[in-house]
Amino acid sequence: MKKILELSLLPHEADNKKIIEERIGRQKHLGNISGYRIHKKSIDARRQPIKVNLLMEVFIDEAIPEFRFLPYSFKEATKDSTVIVGAGPAGLFTALRLLEEGIKPIVIERGKKVQERRRDIAIINKQQLVNPNSNYCFGEGGAGTYSDGKLYTRSNKRGDMKKVLELFVQHGADETILTESHPHIGTNKLPKIIEQMRETILKHGGEVYFNSLLTDIEIANNKVTGIFTTDIISGEEKKIETENLVLATGHSARDIYKLLHRKKILLEAKPFAMGVRVEHPQSLIDKIQYHCNSLAAAVKIREHLPAAAYSLVQQVEGRGVYSFCMCPGGIIAPCATEQNQVVVNGWSPSKRNNPYANSGMVVSIEPTDLIEFKKEGALSGMYFQQQSEQICWMAGGETQVAPAQGLQDFVNGKISSSLNDCSYQPGIKSAGLHELLPVAIAKRLREGFKHFGKKMNGYLSNEAVVVAIESRTSSPVRIPRNPNTYEHVTVSGLYPIAEGAGYAGGIMSAAMDGQMCADKIIGKILKK
Ligand SMILES: Cc1cc2nc3c(=O)[nH]c(=O)nc-3n(C[C@H](O)[C@H](O)[C@H](O)COP(=O)(O)OP(=O)(O)OC[C@H]3O[C@@H](n4cnc5c(N)ncnc54)[C@H](O)[C@@H]3O)c2cc1C
Repeated sequence: MKKILELSLLPHEADNKKIIEERIGRQKHLGNISGYRIHKKSIDARRQPIKVNLLMEVFIDEAIPEFRFLPYSFKEATKDSTVIVGAGPAGLFTALRLLEEGIKPIVIERGKKVQERRRDIAIINKQQLVNPNSNYCFGEGGAGTYSDGKLYTRSNKRGDMKKVLELFVQHGADETILTESHPHIGTNKLPKIIEQMRETILKHGGEVYFNSLLTDIEIANNKVTGIFTTDIISGEEKKIETENLVLATGHSARDIYKLLHRKKILLEAKPFAMGVRVEHPQSLIDKIQYHCNSLAAAVKIREHLPAAAYSLVQQVEGRGVYSFCMCPGGIIAPCATEQNQVVVNGWSPSKRNNPYANSGMVVSIEPTDLIEFKKEGALSGMYFQQQSEQICWMAGGETQVAPAQGLQDFVNGKISSSLNDCSYQPGIKSAGLHELLPVAIAKRLREGFKHFGKKMNGYLSNEAVVVAIESRTSSPVRIPRNPNTYEHVTVSGLYPIAEGAGYAGGIMSAAMDGQMCADKIIGKILKK
């Protein structure tokens, strides 16, 4: 028999197996306890003393089962193939789901395998050179591979979250992601997991093509009939015939939006968000969030607690200003996909043990805000993003060096005479971001930061650096689809999914959207 038990412990107690066992042992009324397993773990740091809440599965008169879940099985691919463009979380989880039913996925990816991609990422950091097909956003695993790997989503009703997490574990992720309230894999661990997923796809008869760029889509009578690809290394062009094309190309594939626009395939402008990345010393955030009197006390408390995180939101002049993808113990990453742009984002290793805490701090933007770009229609947000990224590239000195400012100076509208150390490897350069950023963004951010300084005492300080520009939080374009079939509203057989199509914002929601799309394709193929 299994029973559920809740324990609320002090951090050092929750870190000690003997104390946990002793506390469980006190629950004599439960009967003869043969073992336990942590079902969910969360930290309540809202007030002192900080508590760690453990939701336990306690086994009575029975051994602990070996697995938390039955591994998913995949069939040999024998049925009609489906072409999936993009090997990000959405593309990979679509492929895995199709293989559960024996449908062959053919995955087309412009970037390289994870290991080879690593070199191109090092080149961005060291030589300031961006390969337009192999970078932080493009390549095996998509933007998800060198992402932070935080695995939570607000859109948990949009699919099977548990299955996504279990598939990550089945491919090598630590089992703790099934129990943590805010599961996190870490950039150092993601590449191996992505490789394992590729192995599963290949082992069951799927195909994966790297360095393979989708250049055109063949459509006849409003139906997809095939695609054209170019091999980036050899230049060889190829046609692949298909009736089912999953477009999982992510929010940075501007060539895809332009291609669809040129082919007069309906696109819509959608709301998105843009801003900066702000980076504090992690010890300062620990001190604030764990209510410590001194930095020394913050260091002490960290012996039993993870690097502290925060989440902030404020309405300013009718638009949301909010923290986005907060990375405790993390690093700011150069995420441009072309040479003449600067784009920042953040990640952290699995141990979250870097000395910095960074977070996107962004302002929501409605398509109607972009009057200047009105003539671009559905692509107005995309061109606005692009222009802002180019301005930051010029301000940084036309390399991957990013323009930056002390946080207090940004709020006060003053150029920083010096900047605190920053984790962004290509380097930062002092600039007046209060003037450089689009007015509607700079104004709201400065006001937002003032509010956040009141919510978190010590947050608003020049110990923090603001780095620009955080422009790729989500897609500014939607590729509209039929909610029942997931096919494009006017082109059948075209399945626009996940972040690039405007239906996801993060690893979990992209993976779930991929699985749901696969379900639609399975239904269609099996009905034949
Ligand atoms: C640094 C960083 C940190 C992040 N941290 C987190 C986090 O902690 N948690 C979280 O949930 N999300 C995080 N994200 C966001 C997350 O990675 C994305 O939301 C997610 O990867 C979107 O998945 P996707 O499959 O829709 O698209 P993507 O992951 O963008 O994948 C799209 C793929 O399509 C390929 N492609 C594009 N165009 C073409 C073409 N023409 N031909 C062939 N292939 C093409 C690309 O190369 C890419 O591999 C982070 C992103 C970054 C960059």
